[in-house]
Amino acid sequence: MSDLINNHESFDENVQSDKLKLLYHQSFPAIFFSLIAASIYVGILWPKMDSKLLFIWLSVIVISSFLRLFLFLTYRHKNPQGDEVLKWERPYFITLMISSSIWGIGAVLLSYNLSFLYQTITYFILMGMAGSALTVYSAIRYFSVSAVAIILLPITLWFLFLADSRSIMMSALGIIFMVSAYRATLVLSDTLHFSYMLTHALGRAKEEAEKLASIDMLTGINNRRAFTELAKNQVEYCKRHEYPVSAIILDADHFKNINDTYGHASGDAALQNLSNILQNLTRASDVIGRIGGEEFAVLLTSTNVKDAMLVAEKLKNWIADNPVHIDDEYFSMTVSIGVASDDKYNLELLLNNADKAMYKAKRAGRNQVICF
Ligand code: GH3
Ligand code: MG
Ligand code: MG
Repeated sequence: MSDLINNHESFDENVQSDKLKLLYHQSFPAIFFSLIAASIYVGILWPKMDSKLLFIWLSVIVISSFLRLFLFLTYRHKNPQGDEVLKWERPYFITLMISSSIWGIGAVLLSYNLSFLYQTITYFILMGMAGSALTVYSAIRYFSVSAVAIILLPITLWFLFLADSRSIMMSALGIIFMVSAYRATLVLSDTLHFSYMLTHALGRAKEEAEKLASIDMLTGINNRRAFTELAKNQVEYCKRHEYPVSAIILDADHFKNINDTYGHASGDAALQNLSNILQNLTRASDVIGRIGGEEFAVLLTSTNVKDAMLVAEKLKNWIADNPVHIDDEYFSMTVSIGVASDDKYNLELLLNNADKAMYKAKRAGRNQVICF
């Protein structure tokens, strides 16, 4: 599996966008949970503290929640795609750091005068907040590490600063929590990263496999399968709009002789040359394909049989008038072409009729166009 990832170009930007999308997706409930936790914490401290201070702290939490909500709603409204998502990383990080600081630093300021019991309650509430930050932001490692550190470091340092044995044990608890949280973040973020990389690598591999399955390796144009598929769509399109539709089947004359005289490699080059001519002399909306060894097909949309005949004549003349030039050798080539149109919009019938006309052109002496 990791070969699949290593064999492809880096998906770093795509993966980072995916992670950010996930974080924005998670942020909406996280804002509300943080608000509820803040209200409960204020409720616990209320009997023990100056209510004005608690009110101020809660107001700051509410303001920062609105800021995050505003960011989230703007993100949803703009609905960025691709690389655009990356621009939303910094604002998210800044608002996360603001609300983490309000928790981490604010809680120390609120509780440093209180009894050991209330300081312990504060510590456990902060650990809960840090634990939820760890899981919510684990997709981007530095988000979760920074959030956990900002929430827990101030109070842990405060306990260390108090320097009595109970407080030192409390700070040891905090340090153990932070170390284990850091380890969990590494594992979670690596796993998520790998899974996102794999999703992109598989998507790319699928795209490439589909492309390979539809392209003729020698000429680079549609193979028979892809031609039929695309032609079917175009016939449907013409049927819906009641546009005429025509088909051309083109087969190289005496191609076996070209192989026998100039070699198989020159024969290959001649086929590539033929496919280039087809691409140059048809419209972008026409579907072309190599449907057999030295046999090509063109489906002409919005084209009646008269105009299809003109295209076929132009192809036949161009090929006959321009000798193939390969490795200092020039040789002439001709093609026989069958043309058909069908007002019943039946692709199979259309191609069959064009094929019959092409064989008629062969029997009539080759290097000519015949209409079904
Ligand atoms: P006709 O005018 O009746 O079509 O004669 P032809 O020789 O073109 O037709 P035939 O069906 O007898 O032979 C087709 C030849 O095309 C034989 C085959 O080796 C050659 N051919 C098919 N595919 C390729 C290819 O990919 N490369 C090369 N070099 N030759 C190919
Ligand atoms: Mg042939
Ligand atoms: Mg043939």
